[in-house]
Amino acid sequence: MTKIAFLGLGNMGQPMSRNLVENGFVVTGYDLFPQAIEAAEKNGVVPAQSRDAAIADADIIITMLPTGNDVRGAYMEPGGIIERSKEGALFIESSTISSTITREVAAVAKAAGRRMIDAPVSGGTPRAHAGTLTFMVGGEEADVAQARPLLEAMGAQIYHMGAVGTGHTAKLCNNMLSGICMIGTVEALALGVANGLDPLALTNVMKNSSGTNYALEKYHPFPGLMDAVPSARNFEGGFRSDFQLKDMRLAKELANSSKTLASLGNLACELFAIHCQNGHSAEDYSSIMKLTLDLERYFAEQQADNA
Ligand code: NAD
Repeated sequence: MTKIAFLGLGNMGQPMSRNLVENGFVVTGYDLFPQAIEAAEKNGVVPAQSRDAAIADADIIITMLPTGNDVRGAYMEPGGIIERSKEGALFIESSTISSTITREVAAVAKAAGRRMIDAPVSGGTPRAHAGTLTFMVGGEEADVAQARPLLEAMGAQIYHMGAVGTGHTAKLCNNMLSGICMIGTVEALALGVANGLDPLALTNVMKNSSGTNYALEKYHPFPGLMDAVPSARNFEGGFRSDFQLKDMRLAKELANSSKTLASLGNLACELFAIHCQNGHSAEDYSSIMKLTLDLERYFAEQQADNA
């Protein structure tokens, strides 16, 4: 039986590891926060008290960590994953980080007789829970084939993009676009509301017109218009705004290094920086709705009108 270690049991790692368990895999989990390990244990994940204990026997190690520095440290620091894992182990790196770091870690792993693929995801927490994530994968064909049953337990679409690092490149292109689309969506909603339109009526129009997009259809930023999305629960528990900012900065770096025009990407990056400076870093990225509309005032006025 293939032994799997899952490191990073946060908003995404928690449901992803649960889906592996529900699909019959034996998963040992570790996180820096003991509460996260306890929560995963309730889903059937075998708890580990240390990273070493989680990875010692593992054939496959999945990482779902916040940033590139976290990933580089976890794999490459003295006593890190590369040093302490079994020879021949396969690493599946699913965090959103730069492809430069991925290639750097993969090269060190290869020299040490380990294998690595990058398999970042899209779909956010709703699709992580549903097991319908999109995976963008970079790596050797045989390694991707070995990882595929696990990816299929957590996702609905698996795209093999090319060599190691290409998954993360695809992910940064996507997140630059989704950040731009979210900002465009909140600006259009705020414009309509400021001019007397009902946000639901406007949503229905735009969803069936040329402005339709993922935010409007699946991840609505306006509170009260869609269930089971972060805007329905005070923007908690989704994709943190500072993670969106991190991804937009990585996309900006990629655009600069490849001399590619990314004017809207750069502007959206600045707007997410302002939103985080305004104190919304830990809220879901759709909370950027607050940058364009004073939601508290809007709902107070609605209540007053209905009284
Ligand atoms: P999160 O902060 O909720 O979870 C990350 C977890 O990693 C935390 O529980 C933290 O304690 C743990 N951690 C950090 N360093 C660790 C280490 N060295 N060893 C073990 N555990 C460690 O973050 P998240 O929302 O789950 O996102 C994780 C990654 O996935 C990020 O790179 C993010 O950009 C990406 N991502 C997130 C979403 C989303 O909707 N939340 C969607 C796609 C991609």
